[in-house]
Amino acid sequence: MPVRTLEGQVILWGHTEEQRVDLVSVEGESLHFQYDWPVWQEYVLTESYRTLTRPFYTRMPFHYHVVPGPLRNIAARFLLGRDATAGDTNEFPGFPIEQGFELLHHVIGGPVEMGQHRRLSDRVFLTHDIDTAEGFAFVKDIAQREMDCGFRSLWNIVASGYRIDHGVLEWLVSNDFRVGLHGYNHDNKLAFLEAGQIRERLDQCRDLIERYRINSFRSPSWLRSDALYSVLGEYVEYDYSTLDTDIFCPGGVGGCLWTKSFEREGITVIPTTVPFDDLLLFKVQPHDLCKFWRPKLEWLRSCGGNIVVNTHPDPHRSGSAAMLASYSDLLQTLSRVPRTAAGPGA
Ligand SMILES: [Zn+2]
Repeated sequence: MPVRTLEGQVILWGHTEEQRVDLVSVEGESLHFQYDWPVWQEYVLTESYRTLTRPFYTRMPFHYHVVPGPLRNIAARFLLGRDATAGDTNEFPGFPIEQGFELLHHVIGGPVEMGQHRRLSDRVFLTHDIDTAEGFAFVKDIAQREMDCGFRSLWNIVASGYRIDHGVLEWLVSNDFRVGLHGYNHDNKLAFLEAGQIRERLDQCRDLIERYRINSFRSPSWLRSDALYSVLGEYVEYDYSTLDTDIFCPGGVGGCLWTKSFEREGITVIPTTVPFDDLLLFKVQPHDLCKFWRPKLEWLRSCGGNIVVNTHPDPHRSGSAAMLASYSDLLQTLSRVPRTAAGPGA
């Protein structure tokens, strides 16, 4: 796409590998834009800029969860190949804060629109993905800690691949927690299938969807695609598969660069903004996690973004004494944030 030089004073610009690109300029009373804003917004929110790569292991004949959890963490670190804690501001997307699109929206949207978004600020959504059968053993402990701080959360389950502990799920539901869907299984192939094949898998989750009144989805390992979004609305109303800034998905870096909910293909996408225990993949120690995320929490509050937390109760993630203590610290911090109860789908 040819790049123009904008008239007037350039107030926002970006850099590609080859050149600087003027994004927005001011001339007298008017603004000039490099791109058509609605088209650009759609382009970013749907991550059309992103190249989704199918991880090699999703083509292997066995399920990658046969690899023990701690080894998976090491393998994931190797596959991701980027240090989340390096703080290199020249990398795109920025992590844990990517503020370019938010800033642009603030300039273009103007103060009125930001005021509307401010009503959504300080919203806390706590979510968990139960990746393995062993994870169920830690659910009640984590949920109890949340109740003690006045929270209710969303627990995403995999429909097939492990023995679901329905006793634990019934207990959650009886205590006003919600259950969500974390895929038919966790082989990470879903997002790479054709729409019809995705339907075949999700149709097999219908009994669970009805039993627990599931109305939200998070794709395994954050893998998402246009095909997946084209059918999700037939099953749920809310989706948590997208991150605002994503360096964790094995399909490649990306993110919708946006911290509020938005509509896509008839469902409401709620970007996950605090993938709390994914940082373990980068060797951040449990007792350092809250410190790591604090600037992000403050930034989310300042720009009116949702605080959407995700953890995994599984033993190789948040199912340990050190991680439970760290999560309790996070809950204490969040409980001081004024909030509504639980979010949509949660
Ligand atoms: Zn998962």
